[in-house]
Amino acid sequence: MFENLSARLSGVVKTLSGNARLTESNIKDALREIRIALLEADVALPVVKQFVDTIREEALGEKVVGSLTPGQALVGVVNDKLTELMGGFNDKLNLSAVPPAIILMAGLQGAGKTTTVGKLAKRLKEAEKKKVLVVSCDVYRPAAIEQLKTLAKSLDIECFPSSVEEKPEAIALAAVDYAKKHYFDVLLVDTAGRLTIDEYMMQEIKNLHQTLNPVETLFVVDAMLGQDAVNTAKAFNDTLNLTGVILTKMDGDARGGAALSIRQVTGKPIKFIGVSEKVAGLEPFYPDRMASRILG
Ligand code: GDP
Repeated sequence: MFENLSARLSGVVKTLSGNARLTESNIKDALREIRIALLEADVALPVVKQFVDTIREEALGEKVVGSLTPGQALVGVVNDKLTELMGGFNDKLNLSAVPPAIILMAGLQGAGKTTTVGKLAKRLKEAEKKKVLVVSCDVYRPAAIEQLKTLAKSLDIECFPSSVEEKPEAIALAAVDYAKKHYFDVLLVDTAGRLTIDEYMMQEIKNLHQTLNPVETLFVVDAMLGQDAVNTAKAFNDTLNLTGVILTKMDGDARGGAALSIRQVTGKPIKFIGVSEKVAGLEPFYPDRMASRILG
């Protein structure tokens, strides 16, 4: 079982100095505990290193050293810094575009894109009273088109028809046209993914992105993938200039380190987290909550 970081740091401070003070000599051990905690939470190694470097100075600051409970004060500093690095606050969806606001969903196969399109559509329809159209541009997997169609039907949301004979861009443009004519507020575009990064797939989504000029380009990623999630996020961000990230499967064992790593590597905000397979399982991302989860 993961031992709470606060308890571990208090332990370090006590054993090493014989009293509850944090000193130059035991700070190293305290920083090592922080490093271990972050690695255990699946934060990428370079991100951990950089983080510990920024914390080092603050750890010896008056706020921590002068505290009666330096272990806890240090955890407070770590927690605040993690929260700040993950954006500080919840970053909302940007829908400020001439309707329809186009949201392009990108990510690897199995990341949870189609499920998340359904979740977002439901949220936009119910909580924001938007008229939402969804469309699948995955012309390689008829099952994916069918999956979105079924999902949309269950939510009473319109799904623009796609056919495997057409090019993704043609489908998307026809959907935009339809959305304009029928006064939809938002168009959610589901795209094809592969199991791994693949040049052809990247080129295709790049073309779609250029053609559609979406107001949001959201990268959907499985939080359980750890280091791989970070590499994939970087590749997609380099190709597409993402506007945000959705971290799925946070209902699993993922400790959330991927959130910090992805934010650090791409500089893009995480906007939502997926917390179940069900359509209601989408929550806004709150950096402070994720910081607590990372620290255990
Ligand atoms: P896509 O290939 O990216 O479109 O992925 P899908 O939407 O088909 O999802 C792949 C699998 O992940 C499905 O079994 C989904 O039910 C599941 N899934 C998606 N999001 C979540 C989530 O937040 N939590 C859990 N537990 N499962 C999810």
